[in-house]
This record gives sequence, C-alpha cells and structure tokens, in this order.
Amino acid sequence: MNAPKNPKWLLASQSELTLRYRLARQAQQAWATRTVEQRARQLEPLRRLLDERLESLADLMQDENGKPRVEAIGHEVASCIGAVNYLCAKAPELLSPRQVSLPWMPNRRATVAHKPLGLVLVISPWNMPLSIPFSQVVSALIAGNAVILKPSEVTPRIGAAIGELLEHCQLPENLVTVLQGDGALGARLIAEGPDKIFFTGSVATGRKVMAAAAVHPIPVCLELGGVDALIVCEDADLDLASSAATWGATFNSGQICASVERILVAQPIMARFETLLARKFERLGPEDQGRITLDRQRAVYDRHLDDANARELTFLAGGGYKDEDHLEPALIRGVPRGDDVAASLVHLEETFGPMTTLLPFRSDKDAARLHNASRFGLTASVFSRSRPRAEALAKELKVGLVSINDIAATLHAFGELPWGGVGESGFGRSHGEEGLMEFTRTQVLEQTRRGLFEFKRPWWYPYDPTQLEMMKRFTQAMAADSWRDRAWRLGRTAHAALKMFKEAPRR
Ligand code: NAD
Repeated sequence: MNAPKNPKWLLASQSELTLRYRLARQAQQAWATRTVEQRARQLEPLRRLLDERLESLADLMQDENGKPRVEAIGHEVASCIGAVNYLCAKAPELLSPRQVSLPWMPNRRATVAHKPLGLVLVISPWNMPLSIPFSQVVSALIAGNAVILKPSEVTPRIGAAIGELLEHCQLPENLVTVLQGDGALGARLIAEGPDKIFFTGSVATGRKVMAAAAVHPIPVCLELGGVDALIVCEDADLDLASSAATWGATFNSGQICASVERILVAQPIMARFETLLARKFERLGPEDQGRITLDRQRAVYDRHLDDANARELTFLAGGGYKDEDHLEPALIRGVPRGDDVAASLVHLEETFGPMTTLLPFRSDKDAARLHNASRFGLTASVFSRSRPRAEALAKELKVGLVSINDIAATLHAFGELPWGGVGESGFGRSHGEEGLMEFTRTQVLEQTRRGLFEFKRPWWYPYDPTQLEMMKRFTQAMAADSWRDRAWRLGRTAHAALKMFKEAPRR
C-alpha cells in the first residue's frame, strides 16, 4: 500500500502508472481469495483507529478544508465509522451467493454470486474529503477489489490520511494505492483502464470522466452536483422548518452537494416563513461557518450575486462577503410570484456556497412541478405536519433521497442508506446494499441438479414442425393465468415434446 510519502507521483510517467496498476491487480488476486468475513475482520480495526484519531483527523480537516470542527467530527469521521459498522456487519450476508429456482427448468439450479470487479479507481472531491473516498475505498475492499484512490488536489493530506489508516489493517502490499495529483492525473489514471470508476465531483468533470471511460468502455458511477430543494407546506411546523433550512443551506458554508439551494414555500405562509428564516440567517455566528475552501468558488459566487443584483432580487440576508474567506449567508427572494427568482442563476445552477432562494408555490402539485423543473435531483426535504401529505408529495419528487421534516443531507452520515442522484446529479449509488453491489459484478452459475441426467435440449436443432409445435405449446403454458390452466397447457406441451423427440431426434 502506498500513501503519497513521495511527491514524485505528482509527476509519475505513464509507465509508472502502468506499473502501479499491475501491482495493484496482482495484490487483488490474492485478496479476492479471502472470504468476505476475513476481509471484514481485517478492515474492522478501522473503527478503533478512527475513534483514536478523531481529534487529529478533525485538526487536519479544519486546517486543510476549513470546515467547523463539529462538522469535521460529526459529518466526516462519524460517516466513516458508520461505513465500517455497516459494511463489516452486513457485507458477509449481502455478498453471499444466493440460490435461484427456475420454475420453467426444474431440472436446473442457479446460483447468483457477487464477484469483485478487480481494480477500482476512486476519484474524489475536496468538500467531504475524508468520508466520501473513505467509504468508497472500504466498500471496494470488502467486496474484494484493489483500489487506486486519487483524492482532490485541494485536500491531499486528508487523502494521504486515508492511506495511513488503511496501512494499519495489514492489507496485502499494493492493494490500496493513493496517488496525488490534479485532473490531469485523474485523466491518465482512467487511460490505464481500471475495471470501474467511482467519480464524485462536478457535472463538468463528470462528463469528461464518462467520455474518457466510454473509450474503453469502463463502467462509471457518477456522484455529481445538486441544487437541492426544501419544500415547506402550509401546515408545517415553521420554527422547525426554518431552523432546518438555515442549517441545510449554510453548513460547511454551503459547500455540500446536497446543500439546500432552493426553498419552496406555500404561498399563504411565505411572509411568516421568510421573516423567521431571515432572523435565523442573521443570527448565524462565525463559529457556525466554515471558510471558503477553494478560491475558484468565489468566481461562481460573484457571478450568481451579480445575476441576482441585475434581476433586482431582494436579499433578505447576506449579499456580499464578510471577509476574504467567508461569504455572508444569503437569502434571496423576488417578486411575489417568484418568476424572476425561478430564472436566476442562483436558483438554477449549483452555487456550492451559502446562498439560497425562496420561491412560492400554490399547491402541492405546483411544488412538485417547480421542484422537478431542475436538471438536478440529488436530495430533497419536505416539511409538513401531515405524514400522508408529505409522503404523497415526496413520492412525486425526482430525486435520489427525500427526507420528511429533516435535512436529507444528514443521510450521508449513515452507511445503511443508498446515496446518489438522478438527472445531472449523476447515477449509480454509494452506501447501503445498492452501493455495495456497485463494487461487484454479478455472475450466474447454472447447472443440472445433482443426480439428474443430461439430455439434448428440446430447443436445439433441428428446427422442424414438431419442434415448432412443442415451442408454441410451451410458450402458451408460460402465459397461463391459473395453476389449473397451466397444468393443462403443460400436459399438451409434454405431449408435443414426446412427439418431437420420437419423430426428429435432437442433433
Ligand atoms: P471537480 O469536478 O473539480 O473535481 C473532482 C475530482 O475530479 C478531483 O479529484 C479532480 O482532480 C478530478 N478531476 C478533474 N478533472 C478530471 C479529469 N479530466 N479526469 C479525471 N479526474 C478529474 O469537483 P470538486 O470541485 O472537487 O467538488 C465539488 C463538486 O463535487 C460539486 O459539484 C459537488 O456538488 C460535487 N459533489 C457531489 C457529491 C455527491 O455525492 N453527489 C458529493 C460531494 C461533492
């Protein structure tokens, strides 16, 4: 295993990368022979290590990423521990082969197995620099794969820390390789032909990754951006909803894929809700806000602020910078119908900063329509005191996750629930059973039941009228809609099969 102790990997030649791939593939072959239980036992020490290093990891994240300590611990380290807990407990059961019976071929039996993919490439972003790559790497490993991790060039020390944590698990040498570099290295790593790419990042880069993968072709899992919405129905607990919206729109300074960037509010309660919300935005203190991690984010904020100003939208809070490292959390609304807000950049595009818009809706149907107008669909939140109403609305939303009376981004902290989006938010899943399966390939093994004899199949050659008759009867038997009808049709099929075998022996 290679944590990036030597920055020469930044300049690694393609032949060096080829070598890293070859070594990783060799290591994977031995790793794949271990049972899932053995792999889980080897990865379990990560839980204790994360616990022991909680403070030092938080220091590192505060220093390199700039997020508040409570988020470094509660969102990042907790999410890693959640992943270890879930994967070590559940993977042995989830990855065990399952028997499938074949009602139309009762003489055969099938097993569905979940095999490792081989070598997985994980390319990750800077905003959740520990928990996202960590959970993907551990999922890949427990499923029997080798991993090449390319952390974000913005947070290389956190990426290196993941490699160091894994060093304590005494994994086979070269099973996990952390390679440091920017997008150019990411592109070169794809060119090496991993067996799957787990990419988390922007839509623009996701498109490039997918295009590069298509050349081989290599399957990709894309976890991309979001312009996530929080919907407040008129029967909602407004105090609860406004606190949730304040947190959801501003934690980690909005540098979260699932940050609340649109707040859709029932028209009759709009005035009350925005007053409450503006008050809570004003109360946010310096300790509540992380710093802007990346300079280039400012260009997006400036463009979105300029656009909002050009449209003469109203800033109920914020509208500028507190200082070089902090944007004032911005709460933006427009004319009463909200048409101008709906057309603004801050409402349509991912800001990835603490800015959110307020837009009124007339009915739940209207809320779903406004929500689904977005090209993105990662998470959403619905606030209502009526569970049936909230559930009905939630089911209409085109997103990967919906929370009722909570902020859906919270769900990322738990290993149990699949995470991922629709539309431009990407496809594929991490976390949960669906996420684990992404790191496997399914193999079906089918054979004659023990003790039964082999025979030439009736659907093989020769194709002649007796076979046509038999196939017709069989197909009709499959279409039977009652057991009685099926038994009768199967009898006719058996009769036709006997005739076929007698008159035209199978070749
Ligand atoms: P980014 O797209 O700039 O970079 C992501 C990673 O891709 C980095 O490691 C980068 O070096 C690499 N990369 C860049 N060009 C590449 C190329 N041509 N080939 C291969 N790799 C390349 O994104 P970012 O700024 O690091 O992260 C912010 C984005 O990530 C936001 O859009 C955010 O919404 C998204 N995100 C999504 C999720 C999710 O779960 N859906 C989670 C976190 C972040």
